[in-house]
Amino acid sequence: MSSLNKAQFEAVNALDGPVMILAGAGTGKTRTVTCRIAHLIDQGCDPSGVLAVTFTNKAAAEMKERIGDMISQKAAKEMMVCTFHSLCVRILRQNIEELGYKKNFSIIMGGDQTGLIKQLIVRKGGSKEKIMPGEVLSKISSAKNAGIAMEDIEDSLISAIGVAYRDEIRAQNAVDFDDLLLLGEKLLTNFSHVRRQWQERFSHITVDEFQDTNALQMRLIQRLVDEKRNICVVGDDDQSIYGWRGAEVANILEFERFFSNPRIIRLEENYRSSEAILHTANSLIKHNIGRREKALIPTKAGGEPVKLISMPGDEEEAQFIAQEMKAIHDRGGKKWEDFAILFRTNGQSRKLEEAMRELKIPYRMVGAQSFYDRREVRDVLAYIELLANQEADVPLLRILNSPPRGIGQSTIVQAVDHSREMQQSVWESLNDEGFRSQLGARPRNAIIAFNHQLQGYIDRIQTGSENAGHVVKEFISEIDYVDFIHRGCKTPDEAEKRSEGIHDVIAQLAKASDKGKTLRVFLDESSLASDRDDDDIEKKQGATLITMHASKGLEFPNVYIVGLEQGILPHSRSVEEGTVDEERRLLYVGVTRAQITLTLSYCSIRTKWGDKVSCTPSQFLQEFDVTFIDETSYEDIMGTEISDEEAADFFSSMRAMLLEDSDS
Ligand code: ATP
Ligand code: MG
Repeated sequence: MSSLNKAQFEAVNALDGPVMILAGAGTGKTRTVTCRIAHLIDQGCDPSGVLAVTFTNKAAAEMKERIGDMISQKAAKEMMVCTFHSLCVRILRQNIEELGYKKNFSIIMGGDQTGLIKQLIVRKGGSKEKIMPGEVLSKISSAKNAGIAMEDIEDSLISAIGVAYRDEIRAQNAVDFDDLLLLGEKLLTNFSHVRRQWQERFSHITVDEFQDTNALQMRLIQRLVDEKRNICVVGDDDQSIYGWRGAEVANILEFERFFSNPRIIRLEENYRSSEAILHTANSLIKHNIGRREKALIPTKAGGEPVKLISMPGDEEEAQFIAQEMKAIHDRGGKKWEDFAILFRTNGQSRKLEEAMRELKIPYRMVGAQSFYDRREVRDVLAYIELLANQEADVPLLRILNSPPRGIGQSTIVQAVDHSREMQQSVWESLNDEGFRSQLGARPRNAIIAFNHQLQGYIDRIQTGSENAGHVVKEFISEIDYVDFIHRGCKTPDEAEKRSEGIHDVIAQLAKASDKGKTLRVFLDESSLASDRDDDDIEKKQGATLITMHASKGLEFPNVYIVGLEQGILPHSRSVEEGTVDEERRLLYVGVTRAQITLTLSYCSIRTKWGDKVSCTPSQFLQEFDVTFIDETSYEDIMGTEISDEEAADFFSSMRAMLLEDSDS
């Protein structure tokens, strides 16, 4: 508490009634609410009555850890610190039966979801239909979130697929990510006893990154807050970067409309960035019109100038950054974790990854393809889910013939049809002698053998005397799953990566099982871990490669922002759609992640789909005030002669290294 400034102290002590902290980047919003929660518990509030909603699982884990350090690990365990999605899973696991689902519903996502859509496209539109599953899914999702029934979607094909998709996952007792929030809200809205139960559970609710909540999430909060109105929200309208996903910045700007007479607290001192970085950030964001002006005062005067470097191409850009990072790191005093490279789109990461690998710089990717969406990982999770719940059709159909065990596609279709007709799960049909007797001897025997095999492992899990990880490991090895996956790999690297994936899941399960977690809890956690920008669950060490969206809320001593070109940032789509302001906020978020040094770069030429295209610098570069900017070019840095005097200089040693590299 002693380290808080006056406004922060006020916030930490304002424990009752609605509170809104509206403040710029790096002013300690997250730190303040974290302290506030610790203080609440210190004042005698029951930890199990605390709900704190964060934007990512990672942020939740960090907040929990810090509160644990301040108060007690035991208290931290009892609190619910999680994302909106995890919150809704908990609500649904308890109360979904009200909506006619079974409690052991599965969560369909990623490849399983697109796979289903692919089938439905063929079924509804024919195989010649040229339409991307991702596009269909995003249209279905938008309609769902806008409260439009699938039947009412204008495009008749999408509508037909939407109806079939909805009915199909419903029949499989499965929900998707959108459903988690939609059904959670529905439960709380339509069932007053459910609402009361959860309102009684939570005495104090906190929401971080509130500027990125959407209308549905706002409704969820409204349902959860009772007449005592102990709600505290924190955010910064200048960092609202999820408008494209339906976030309503009005939630924060018009907070009093939802909760009247809130106490509004403003924080003005920035503790994160040097004056040079902060001044540069402020000079950019002031170009957005209609924003709420906020004071943002540096507490770290001066600092190294922000570097702005023009690069000949994206290859040089990546290599330059890798070399510079290595040079700084090797001089001592810096950890790899101090560095972060921020980019606008996932496609930009490949060159950067190559450069990291070339110099053997350990790194972690955040916001790229999710670990949990990799095929082998999904397969193993499907096996685990089946051990927990054989009624789950989604995972059963996924692995029924994977690896191949003589149960062909036509048998699978027959089984699904039979299960629909009898209104039972596919597993029940497979165990149904009436159904099996319709099949030929081969598939029939294959099914009986598989049922028998699976049942053996289910029994072992249910006795609960063994670690579930070990049981699954044995199962996976008995079915030769690793060999099966290896046969489909093109390179030894791929094979290794995939085996690692398989082993990682099993190891995680073993760990969870050691901690006494059930398969169900483990599976929910894995589904939620794949929630978009949040897949560094493996807790890898190293420099961070991250999309600007995923970098929200984080901070790093040394930050590089790459690809500041027209069409990339601002993204070409945003120029067409008139959302350049949101792109400016995105860059503002990026810039304000930096603590000590910030390097911005743009390229003259970029490789796109194998072609070299020329680029123009981002329009945002002209908006920066140049007081603290040091503008230079790759050629300048590389082309100057190295004098003896300079040799000790860090830039020169780096240059020498780069030249050496290009000679070889
Ligand atoms: P963002 O808008 O990016 O989410 P934020 O407002 O949540 O930022 P924090 O991440 O909570 O800011 O804090 C930024 C940094 O400032 C952290 O390193 C934090 O420890 C530090 N900080 C916050 N308040 C103080 C303080 N009173 N004294 C010293 N350091 C502080
Ligand atoms: Mg924060």
